[in-house]
Amino acid sequence: MSEGGRGGSFAELLEKIKAFPKNQLWRHNQAGDLPGEGSRIDAKMLSELVEANRGRKGFTYSHKPLTTANATLIAYANRNGFTVNVSANTLLDADKVALRHPDLPICVVVPEGTPRRTTTPAGREVRLCPAERKGSGINCANCKLCSKATRSYIIGFTVHGTSKKNYAAAVAQ
Ligand code: SF4
Repeated sequence: MSEGGRGGSFAELLEKIKAFPKNQLWRHNQAGDLPGEGSRIDAKMLSELVEANRGRKGFTYSHKPLTTANATLIAYANRNGFTVNVSANTLLDADKVALRHPDLPICVVVPEGTPRRTTTPAGREVRLCPAERKGSGINCANCKLCSKATRSYIIGFTVHGTSKKNYAAAVAQ
């Protein structure tokens, strides 16, 4: 797995992505979010990312608020091969997001001690990131769940210390 978005200009990032082989799994922005000022997603920059990613398997996460404009852009990226997981802060929040945006892949933060398989209050399936299990030998490169835009379940990450970003970074280096 490779990564994009660490340092360098946006133009350089696009060139880097275009140089990835077809079907390359890569993760956008270890520590950031989608391009755009503040809570807004920059439509032009996102479309450039989507085009650069054509034929490859880029994925990322977004905490940007799901305004109509942002949700439309995120759905567009997901439909076109660049998987953008929207982040929910609680299981209840995940239900609200899923209700309003059933087409978007969702990640959620869950309390430590949450079972590997659980459900939201409304009964939606939640699977904890398998890399959180010590000694599982699983990482983003061999798991790939976050790159699946059309999955039916929500991915959970426990609150304590180990975030999706850390797992992603661990396999990218
Ligand atoms: S290992 Fe965790 S962060 Fe990586 S793709 Fe799988 S679920 Fe997502």
